[in-house]
Amino acid sequence: MRYELRCRECHKSWGNVPQSVCEDCFSPLEVTYDYDSLGRLFTREKIAQGPPSIWRYSALLPLPDSHQPTLPVGFTPLFKAPALARRIGAKHLYIKNDAVCLPTLSFKDRVVAVALANARAFGFDTVSCSSTGNLANATAAQGARGGFKCWIFIPADLEPAKIVGTQVFGAQLVRISGSYDQVNRLCSQIADEHRWGFVNVNLRPYYAEGSKTFGYEIAEQLGWRLPDNVVCPMAGGSLIVKIQKAFQELIQLGLVEPKPVKFFGAQATGCCPISTAVKLGNSEIEPQKPSTIARSLAIGNPADGHYAIKAIRESGGWSEDVSDREIVNSIRLLAESEGIFTETAGGVTVACARKLYKLDRILPEETTVLAITGNGLKTSDAVAGEYELEQPIAPRLVDFNAYLESTFSFPAAVGA
Ligand SMILES: *Cc1c(COP(=O)(O)O)cnc(C)c1O
Ligand SMILES: [Zn+2]
Repeated sequence: MRYELRCRECHKSWGNVPQSVCEDCFSPLEVTYDYDSLGRLFTREKIAQGPPSIWRYSALLPLPDSHQPTLPVGFTPLFKAPALARRIGAKHLYIKNDAVCLPTLSFKDRVVAVALANARAFGFDTVSCSSTGNLANATAAQGARGGFKCWIFIPADLEPAKIVGTQVFGAQLVRISGSYDQVNRLCSQIADEHRWGFVNVNLRPYYAEGSKTFGYEIAEQLGWRLPDNVVCPMAGGSLIVKIQKAFQELIQLGLVEPKPVKFFGAQATGCCPISTAVKLGNSEIEPQKPSTIARSLAIGNPADGHYAIKAIRESGGWSEDVSDREIVNSIRLLAESEGIFTETAGGVTVACARKLYKLDRILPEETTVLAITGNGLKTSDAVAGEYELEQPIAPRLVDFNAYLESTFSFPAAVGA
């Protein structure tokens, strides 16, 4: 067997089953690989011959042998951000831009692609999830393409674009009047009663492995080098942990030079259980009741919080959180400086990065990658109120010239 589930704490093997918790000690299960036999399959040359998508890393993903990928998920651009760097006091700043991840414009497409490959292998005809929005979009889209029936559970008051962006795929959308954490608890109960593949409940160990591809791509796109720092938004805390796992695997398999990488977690102050624990020096999460515009990160009791804290602390990193005002300012800053419209989660990343440079937690000379994980068109309401809609003018040159005269300058850029 190329991979199997093992308990993170007692290390008992569970084979490959749709299950996320060890029945012996109730700790989370994780996919582990036979790295000795993988060395030959996972080389720079083999990867370079693969498709421009997450499937180039298939050898290190938990994919059944029968899996035939048909969607070009991932392999999003990584590029230098010199103008943003100047604005926040950085020098070697990169953006990893999953605002353009296919098919639904967030990094959640990566995790769903891997989860649904396993849903198929386990014989589920219905897939499902609890979601703060982006996971709903990704599950509904890829579920439709894969011919699955699809049930999606969300807090009732999500952003309109994330609701329509789920319904349009024909998914059965169940709105719950409650927080994400309540929605998620309900889904665990439903998963016990129905034979459905919940991508982030009973398929969670497989789902989470999809996030590693974000890390593999960073390393490959930097020319098979690791950065000094990664700044990553956190909801359940899975992505940041899996980027670290990806880097460790690349080192273990000899694809990159060993190097310490610091991990910096980013949250909204209105929901910051992980950054609070890091700042207080606690190793466990104290659940919070979320209240922030960063809805995609609004998980008050993050499933992987404990491991996210560990990844941050053991790497020598740190975690920050920022106000809704700072999130909006930073969405604008990223758009005006680099031409990227990110959603609120991306605003959290940029705002926290700014703070981390200011606090000298990150030094300008270091190579730092910002994880931009979602698209601004899905949360445009967050910034719509920032702009006035002027009165239209008549389609005549004289009117335009009059308008031009009345306009002495463009509105000032934010956050100067
Ligand atoms: C879900 C999500 C995250 C955080 O992912 P976790 O793995 O749950 O920490 C970050 N950004 C966006 C846009 C998301 O949708
Ligand atoms: Zn166990």
